[in-house]
Amino acid sequence: MIENIMSLQKGLPEEISALEEDLAFTSRQIEARKKIADERQKLRERLNSVIHDCKEKIKSFKEKQTLARNNKEYDALSKQIEYEEKEIAQAEIQLQDISHAEHHAQELQKKGRELIAENRYDEISEEMMPDDVLQQQMEDLGQQVRQKKEELESIVVETAEEVAQLKAVLSEQRSVVAQQAKRLLDKYDHLKSGSIQNAVVKLDRQACSGCNTRVPTNRHTLIVQGGFYVCESCGRIVVHERLFDEAAASGQQ
Ligand SMILES: [Zn+2]
Repeated sequence: MIENIMSLQKGLPEEISALEEDLAFTSRQIEARKKIADERQKLRERLNSVIHDCKEKIKSFKEKQTLARNNKEYDALSKQIEYEEKEIAQAEIQLQDISHAEHHAQELQKKGRELIAENRYDEISEEMMPDDVLQQQMEDLGQQVRQKKEELESIVVETAEEVAQLKAVLSEQRSVVAQQAKRLLDKYDHLKSGSIQNAVVKLDRQACSGCNTRVPTNRHTLIVQGGFYVCESCGRIVVHERLFDEAAASGQQ
């Protein structure tokens, strides 16, 4: 019964922890992608706002240029416009970098999707895993973990029942043994304390030496071999006289 329980459970806890590891790995990948996307979005917003501000400044510098009273003033404004234009160019390069990175990531995922379609899973790198496939993978793993845990839980419940049954059987057996032992002890005590002295007596000329009632012939062999007979007449326990000598000898030791 215990072996059955063990074989039912076997492998399940290990399977669950392996699935949980996969699940943790997948969700870490998704988290990392989300973090990168968020950072790119923030950077893009910041750069767009920089470009907007630069353009506003340029517009105001150009207006001032139309009002410039001399070349010196005009040239100074031209330098400021030039500076803002450089700022815009730099921001645009960074925006392009972001777009390239996103495009590259999408290309990798496209490649991954093709490999999946061709069942070439061992050629797919982490970055190649398409977002939706990764998301699906996480959901599937989550479901598998839940299923396996339920399975294990039901086995544990089942096991608990069988273990309880086993304990009940053992405790019943123990109480039966205890009852029998008590009955024997009671009988012995009764013989010892009652009117009958010498509860254990020897077989004497094929009869109970306590009351001289004949012991059936078919019991003699058993008594000679060291067994005992309960006298039907007086209830004493009849044994071979040899046992008295042995008892006396072991008592002296
Ligand atoms: Zn007797």
